[in-house]
Amino acid sequence: MKELKVFAPATVANLSCGFDVLGCCLDSVGDEMVVRKNDLNEIRITKVTGQELPMEADKNVAGVAVKALLKDLESDQGFDIEITKRIKPGSGIGSSAASSAGAVFAVNKLLGEPYSSNQLIPFAMQGELIASGNEHADNVAPALLGGFSLVRSYCPLEVLSLPVPSELRMVVLHPLIEIKTKDSRSIIKQNISLKSAINQWGNLGALISALYTDDYDLLGRSLEDEIVEPIRSILIPYFQELDELSVANGALGFGISGSGPSVYALCKGDENAEKVKQAIKKFYEKKGIDFDLHLSAINKQGVKIL
Ligand code: ADP
Repeated sequence: MKELKVFAPATVANLSCGFDVLGCCLDSVGDEMVVRKNDLNEIRITKVTGQELPMEADKNVAGVAVKALLKDLESDQGFDIEITKRIKPGSGIGSSAASSAGAVFAVNKLLGEPYSSNQLIPFAMQGELIASGNEHADNVAPALLGGFSLVRSYCPLEVLSLPVPSELRMVVLHPLIEIKTKDSRSIIKQNISLKSAINQWGNLGALISALYTDDYDLLGRSLEDEIVEPIRSILIPYFQELDELSVANGALGFGISGSGPSVYALCKGDENAEKVKQAIKKFYEKKGIDFDLHLSAINKQGVKIL
């Protein structure tokens, strides 16, 4: 096999009380990538359509992630990478992670799968490091593994896959304003009170339990983040109103996707998700801010071969 075309999915990280440790994979939003072996012993970004992105392999996260993999494998195989970008960079739904994950997934397949999906995570994290200055895994892990991923530990890296209740749907609103990941990180407090920590780990434990037991009501009650969301939500226009509107229309919960500006409503079933989507659309259309709006199931597979 010389060439592979893949779907590289968008992801929702920093999932509520799972800040920096919990993310999930979307199904209907993502990029397409074509990865092809070349005889030049060189990694080249040969084409990017849809968005302006760096064409130098050392500045494009796809090139950086692939180089990390090849270095570990001590391989000098060259690859050409084409990216059709549908996930806008800086949207908060893992634009950079999709490219890193898609690239290492395809290269691994073309090399006869020397690594498991889990082993690809650290290479994709090298891409995240150049995109945001932080080697976080809660976008690249669900993009590679599908479903929900929990980062139990960063050092050493240990990532767990969690079950996906079948009726879960995500409505994602992306207000087309720019919030830099670095900026939204800089406003977070570095110390928290014991009381906040207790509430947060209570909610995260309950959220994990809800995924295992298909308990949608418990899932809704546990989607609370009292540490990061109150600070970051200030950067997102009409956050409070959107939260109240979504819950009033039956959403299980509402929160910030990644470091924003995207926000998500987690819903049970297509019918409710469509209702929430329409309510958000009607509300935001009057606010004079351009936006994208997505409705997606949870993608249990992660990166897919097309
Ligand atoms: P997101 O959370 O949507 O990935 P970030 O702000 O974390 O957004 O990362 C986007 C940054 O990464 C931008 O500066 C962008 O230029 C850079 N970047 C480099 N290569 C890529 C790529 N292949 N896809 C997306 N962003 C990339």
